[in-house]
Amino acid sequence: MTATHVVDHIHDEPMSEVALRSLAIEALLQEKGLLTADEVRRQVNLMDGRTPADGARVVARAWVDEGFKARLLADSRSALAEMGIEIPADTPHLAVVENTEDVHNLVVCTLCSCYPRMLLGRPPDWYKSLAYRARAVSDPRGVMAEFGTELADGVQVTVLDSTADMRYLVLPRRPAGTEGMSEEELASLVSRDSMIGVTDALSP
Ligand code: FE
Repeated sequence: MTATHVVDHIHDEPMSEVALRSLAIEALLQEKGLLTADEVRRQVNLMDGRTPADGARVVARAWVDEGFKARLLADSRSALAEMGIEIPADTPHLAVVENTEDVHNLVVCTLCSCYPRMLLGRPPDWYKSLAYRARAVSDPRGVMAEFGTELADGVQVTVLDSTADMRYLVLPRRPAGTEGMSEEELASLVSRDSMIGVTDALSP
């Protein structure tokens, strides 16, 4: 287990047994000289600075620029660099998956809470819940319905299971009636939940 992974799994919940254990591991890593408190704080700062607005900017750019979208889907790291978003080399691969008329992608981490924090910040509590992690796989349409998302019968649902090595960001469909909107206006329609895939983007 790397130091980054430990930091990745510290959450703001009341001090559960797991939280206590992770702090104990962090203390041990520091004691052994593998990780400094400064490194931990730097990562926390970085993480706190990330919000879904970062992901929303990326989605809006993909909606207005077909070339960028193609590059984003093919190689997210270099496409994001075009927007000034640098993904450090030692972080998990980020795959951007596109929702279309025929396919709807839904992201989960069945094991824990892996999430594209570089673009969305911290995951919501429900994303980490046992109920979501289990039901997103067994009944994705039911879960989406609880978020108010009704998919047409013919739409194929793809559930993507995030891991420590692979994170996913959903590129939601561009809503109808947004033809004249600027990139910035479009970004305001891109909700966090739509980039996880539990909902579509907002309507204007
Ligand atoms: Fe995880």
